[in-house]
This record gives sequence, C-alpha cells and structure tokens, in this order.
Amino acid sequence: MANKWVYLFTEGNAGMRNLLGGKGANLAEMTNLGLPVPQGFTITTEACTQYYEDGEKINDEIMSQIMAHITKMEEITGKKFGDKENPLLVSVRSGSRASMPGMMDTILNLGLNEEVVEVLAAKSGNPRWAYDCYRRFIQMFSDVVMEVGKKFFEELIDEMKAEKGITQDVDLTADDLKELANQFKAEYKAKIGSDFPSDPKDQLMAAVKAVFRSWDNPRANVYRRDNDIPYSWGTAVNVQMMAFGNMGDTSGTGVAFTRDPGNGEKHLMGEFLINAQGEDVVAGVRTPQKIDQLNEVMPEVYSQFLDICAKLEGHYKDMQDMEFTIEDKKLYMLQTRNGKRTAHAALKIACDLVDEGMISEEKAVTMIDPRNLDTLLHPQFDTAALKAAKPIAKALAASPGAACGKVVFTAQDAKAWHEKGEKVILVRLETSPEDIEGMKAAQGILTVRGGMTSHAAVVARGMGTCCVSGCSEIAMNEANKKFVLDGKEFHEGDWISLDGSTGKIYTGKMPTVDATIAGEFGRIMGWADKYRRLKVRTNADTPADAKKARELGAEGIGLCRTEHMFFESGRIDAFREMICADTLEAREAALEKILPVQQGDFEALYEALEGCPVTIRFLDPPLHEFVPTEEGDIKKLADAQGKTVEQIKTIIEGLHEFNPMMGHRGCRLTVTYPEIARMQTRAVIRAAINVQKAHADWNVCPEIMIPLICDEKELRFVKKIVVETAYAEIAAAGSNLKYEVGTMIEIPRACLTADAIAKDAEFFCFGTNDLTQMTYGFSRDDAGKFLDAYYDTKIFESDPFAKLDQNGVGKLMDMAIKLGKETRPDMHIGICGEHGGDPSSVEFCHRIGLDYVSCSPFRVPIARLAAAQAALNQ
Ligand code: PEP
Ligand code: MG
Repeated sequence: MANKWVYLFTEGNAGMRNLLGGKGANLAEMTNLGLPVPQGFTITTEACTQYYEDGEKINDEIMSQIMAHITKMEEITGKKFGDKENPLLVSVRSGSRASMPGMMDTILNLGLNEEVVEVLAAKSGNPRWAYDCYRRFIQMFSDVVMEVGKKFFEELIDEMKAEKGITQDVDLTADDLKELANQFKAEYKAKIGSDFPSDPKDQLMAAVKAVFRSWDNPRANVYRRDNDIPYSWGTAVNVQMMAFGNMGDTSGTGVAFTRDPGNGEKHLMGEFLINAQGEDVVAGVRTPQKIDQLNEVMPEVYSQFLDICAKLEGHYKDMQDMEFTIEDKKLYMLQTRNGKRTAHAALKIACDLVDEGMISEEKAVTMIDPRNLDTLLHPQFDTAALKAAKPIAKALAASPGAACGKVVFTAQDAKAWHEKGEKVILVRLETSPEDIEGMKAAQGILTVRGGMTSHAAVVARGMGTCCVSGCSEIAMNEANKKFVLDGKEFHEGDWISLDGSTGKIYTGKMPTVDATIAGEFGRIMGWADKYRRLKVRTNADTPADAKKARELGAEGIGLCRTEHMFFESGRIDAFREMICADTLEAREAALEKILPVQQGDFEALYEALEGCPVTIRFLDPPLHEFVPTEEGDIKKLADAQGKTVEQIKTIIEGLHEFNPMMGHRGCRLTVTYPEIARMQTRAVIRAAINVQKAHADWNVCPEIMIPLICDEKELRFVKKIVVETAYAEIAAAGSNLKYEVGTMIEIPRACLTADAIAKDAEFFCFGTNDLTQMTYGFSRDDAGKFLDAYYDTKIFESDPFAKLDQNGVGKLMDMAIKLGKETRPDMHIGICGEHGGDPSSVEFCHRIGLDYVSCSPFRVPIARLAAAQAALNQ
C-alpha cells in the first residue's frame, strides 16, 4: 500500500504526535473532543523528511494526496478554493513533535486573489476586512514563501499612513488597503520578476514547501540544538480553514494559559486583541487586553472559552497554552498544547496537579524539564540593594531572574559583545526569531512592545533568561542606538539592571546574589530521589563548592581536581616551583610546601562531606595552564628558586609542549616524578585519619583516583607508590583507615583493556571530557573553532563535549563497564566529565548501569531529576 502522507483532523489523535506533530495531533484530538476547530488536514512529518530526501521537492505521490485532501476539505467545509460564491481560505502552519515557538513559518489567508477578494468584500459587506486580509496575505506570502523582506511592505504602509495623516493601521480605509494590496503586488513583481501567483493551489504548494524549508532555517537549527530536538524529526504542515479575527469589533484573536506560566498560580491568564489576526498578538505589534476583559466584551464567548479551558486541562492533565479566534462572536480553537512555563511555575503546577488528584508523583517528576531548573539556581538582586534602588520604570515581568549589563540594540551586537566577555542587556522595540542568538548571549532582554505571550517573553522564558517586556514608556531610537526612559537618555554601553520577576527596570549596575531554592522544589526533589537508582555526586575542588553541592543534594564528591586547589594567588607559586624544579631536591622542597596546604584542603572537604564518599584525583595539570608566562611571575619564581630569570626561561622552554592536552600530565607526571604521588598520598591519608578521629560515627574512606591511565602496568606502577606510602602513614598513626585506589577511564585504550586495568583499579570513573577528546581526536581547547561548521553542515547536531556521544564514546564506556566487571564484579563505576550534568547523558549513564554521575554543584538538582526520569521512563 502507498504511504499515507496526509491526515484529516478527523483521522488523527493526540497519540500521533510523532507523525502529525504536536499541533496536528492536538487539532485532531480537539476535533475528537467535539470542540469548535476549523477543519483541515495535516501533512505528516514523514512527508517533510521525504521532501528533504527527494532533494527539497514535494514528490508526485505526496502532491496528489494533498490535492485529494483539498477536495475532502472542500466537501467538509462547503467552501471551495478560488470559488466565486463561497471561497475557501486557509492557514498553513508548521508543527513539529516538540513545540518550537516562532521558529518556523506560518502563512494566513491563503487562497485570495483579485477575484476572490471581491467576492469576500461583497459577501461580507465588509470590504475593509477583505482588503486587509488580502494585503496581509501578499505581505506574508512574499516574506515567508519568496523571502522578500517584510520591511519593504512595512515601508509602503508607513508611506501610506504618512500620506493620509494617520498613525494607526486600523484607520486605513478599504480603499487605502485595496491600493496597498496593488502596491504590494507591484513590489512583489519588482523583487521576484513575475506576477504574484493567483491560483490558490499554486499558492498552497509554494506555502507547504516554505514550511518544510523553514525546518532548516538558521533560527530553527539554533533552537533545536539548544533543546535537543533531532533534525531528523521534521515538521508537519497543518492546512486549516481560516477563522477571521479581523472581521470587525465582534471578532478577535488571543492566546491563553489555563494557569499562570510565570508562577504557576491556578487562574486563567492570557490576552486578546479585538479585530486582529493571530500574528498581531504573538508579534507584540499591538499591546493586547487581558483575557478577563473578554467577559465584558463578549460574555457568552468568554463563558464558552472557560468551559473549553477546563475540559482541555482535565483531558491533558497539564496546564494548556491555547490559541483561539472569534469570528463574528463565534469561538474557534486553533491550538492547544502543554504550555511552556518557568521552572518555578513547573514545580508549582506539578505539585498542585498531584494535590488536586489529577496526576501521580511519578508523573509529576517526569513532567519537569531538568534543564529548566537552572533558572531556579540563578542569581537574584541583592535584597538591600533592591530596597534602596528606585525603579525608573515597570513593565511586564516576562521571564524571572535578575540581570544587569550594558545596553546593546541589536542581536548581532549582543553576540559580539558577549564574545568579548561583556555582560549585555538587549534592548529592542520587539524581538523576532532572528534575534535568538543575541537573546541567548544577553543577560537580560528588554522590549518596548509586546505582552506576556510575545516572542520575547515566550522565548526568554524557555531559555531561562531574564526578560522585561512591553515597556511602552521607552522612547526608542533604534537607528541611532539610543532611547529615553524616565527623562534619561541611554546609549549603547550604559549599564542597566532588570528584574524579570517584577518587571522593574533600574539604571546602573545592581549587585546580584545566588538563588535560594525552597517550597515545591524540595517536594519534587524528594520524589525524584525516591525513584532514581543513580547516585549523584559533585565535582568540587573547594570546601565552599562542596558545601553548596551538599545543599543541592550531592551525595559525595566524584571528582576533586587537586590541581585546581592551586588556582588561588598565594598558592600558585609553590606549585610553579614544583613544576619548574630541575632537581629532585628542589622538587621535594616545593612539595614540602604544598603538603600542608593539600592536607588542610582535604580535611575541609571531608568535613564538608560529613562522611559521604570523596574521590580525590591526583594531579593532572596540563602544563600550559600552569607554567608562568608573565615577566613578573617568572621573576618571582626565579627569586624563590635562587635562579636567574634566564635560567627559569630555559626551564620553561624545556617544558614547552606542542600538544599539552596529550602531553606530560596525569599519571605520566607520577611515572616521571613518583615523589608527587607520595606527597599527595600523605596529604590524603593524614587528612582522612584526622577527620575520622574527630568524627567516630563517619565512615571516612578516601577514594584515590589516578588520571589518564592507558595501560595496566602504568596503573600498577602508580598504585604501588600510593599503597606503600599509605601503608606507612596508616601504620605510623596506628589507624585502621580503609581507602580505595581507582582510576579515571578517559583514554580509549583504557576502555579497550578495562579487564586488565580492573585487576588493580578498585573503581572506575569515566572522564568523558578527555575520552571525547581522544575518541574524536578533537582538541578540547580548539574544537570550538570548527564545531560551528559541523553544525552548519549538519555533520553534528550537538556538541559532543556537552552531550555525550552515545554511539561512539558511549560504546567505549559500555565496553569498559562490561570488561571491568568481568574482572571485578563489585567495582563501583561513575562519570565525572561535564556530561554528568547533562540530562540526556544522565539517561544514558542510567541505561548502561553506572552507579553515579558527578557534576558541577549547580547541576546537581538537574542530574537528580534526570536520573529519576531515566528510571521512571525505562
Ligand atoms: C575528564 O577528562 O572528563 C575529566 C573529568 O577530567 P579533566 O576535565 O580534569 O581532564
Ligand atoms: Mg581528564
């Protein structure tokens, strides 16, 4: 049987999301529920994939199914494409499996041409409306399908308004709009070189193609990468009969959430515009009215809408984000989906739904996007500073968090300044999807126009970036990069502070403090902990980091990078003396200085961890990060060593490596200088003995971890030094301290020979940063320079240093676990590369049977939640 590429709304349901996309599946589901949905059909995501496979062509089979469905749609609606009596107009909208708000394209009012517009004008008795639709369609089609910039059309509108002496679009008459439509078509012809297409079927095919094409536009690609959405999914296309919100004062359009997406409170939230079409609300071009005001304008419609909201929330058992249109007092539902929300709202809604008996705890745990938790952990303004400060304006609190930075006016500038290390606030009239990279680079976003559901608000909330929107008090001069607010002129580079939780705006630079988490967060985390199997440890090098991580639920330290304990000034000197020592005596003298510092640090770490496991990784300094380069530092080192500057420079030259990441680091240092491992062992064991003495009820059992092992004999050599030293220390102290010696698995050869390595390793911990580096042969330090080209060419969809490569690196890990456990079935195995805090990587670690993941302190809650989801979804 031939493939089925197209489904009527009556043929689908919510379970067909992968095939019909979220929007298509939910339009079908709403149809099944008997809700007022303008009917139409969905062209599947598979058709999109096929379009790309066929070299960006819609093949004959798909084309003929689309045509057949137009006929079916004409039968269902009783309207016909291009008809002189009862013409059919449609919207053509994208809709992928995962919602990607504003990233892809939409075309409204398709089916209009010179004849049809006359029919509509005459039949409706509302020529103004008919010509408004027509000029909108020409504008949208030209922009989206033919890529003629919108600005050309906006200029024509502005010229027309200036000529007529009016300021608002709504003051344009039917004749003005008719004239504009003609001007638009002329503009189209001038830019494209042919007439504007008048056959609705040609228009439709071109529009469907444009939506497929928009799956691959740059902003969609960026959004997908940020949200882990595979390119291979493709987008569906929904062709739906138009419902007209711009037919006059008894029509309108809006969006609403069944609960507040900002704080999760249980009340309807949304906005609408009378006499408008969908894009007017989302684009934030006009500032809309609050949803409850609909009760005053059209009470019956409002009450019907409330019923639908309740029905949809009850049906989907989650907060819904809906789009609707009212055509001459008749309500139509255009979309429903589980609404995007802030982390705070996500936690509150999940808990409330459990308390309302709608969902189980397990469901609540799986409902929350772990990446979203980041925003709870982000800074807020210092309370005292906030109290003392006087806001210069207040607008919509569109996305929470505090931000301060220097004003920039374009997304490009935001990105460029950010790359130079500047903190920026992106100030715009309104944002559009092209701005996504700039929005990402900014600390915060401030817009002049737009409501809570405008592009800026929705996208910022999704990204967890602070956003204040709709600040109409701003007198903006984007062209000259300045604006006036509260009587003060702001220029590019001026400091400004935003509170995305209150919508308040302040001049200057306001200090921020770390977030505190409470309330529903603890409840959800408690549930997550109940269902996860993976333990979550932290990568922490200082007692302060360790304490923070403990507060956030870390169950141990999975990686203490001992070389990082020397980054502070005052400590780096002894470390450099050790690296640059040219005799055993000089090195031992430097190590003697380091020993008490290390021991003190380790004691503080054990104290902070209160008896939980602590893995101490022996020195692994890529030399280029530690060797002095500044004249002053070199001189200091020379003085300390009793050498001349020239002598030190000669030593430094001798240390130069062409490839330090694969150079003299990790266990290789111990192979050449065993005294380093001896010193570190002493520090670890002495610290552990002291802390154990002070806390008899704790079980202090140091885990000594050897980095960069590639061969069993290499580990045996280092372990022997550790064991001999530890034995002497423990005996001298008359202690019975237990400790373990294990290894990082971060070189492919270690994975391949893990059975042999496990003879000496009591535990494994995957260093997936190096393992990724060496599996790919991509330098960790340099990959950033070329990875963008890999995304652009679709060779890669994500950064393998951020999201674990399950097919390659993951395969090595799987092999190492199996081989290691053949030798030592009870060994514990973890991961401490950056991937340990990435949700999809955590899920993989669960699947291949790791015992724990270890990640930076602020990612601990993310890992806890991701681990629970992995267990629940398995
Ligand atoms: C790793 O390589 O994954 C690791 C954790 O060690 P480092 O990042 O210190 O090399
Ligand atoms: Mg490493």
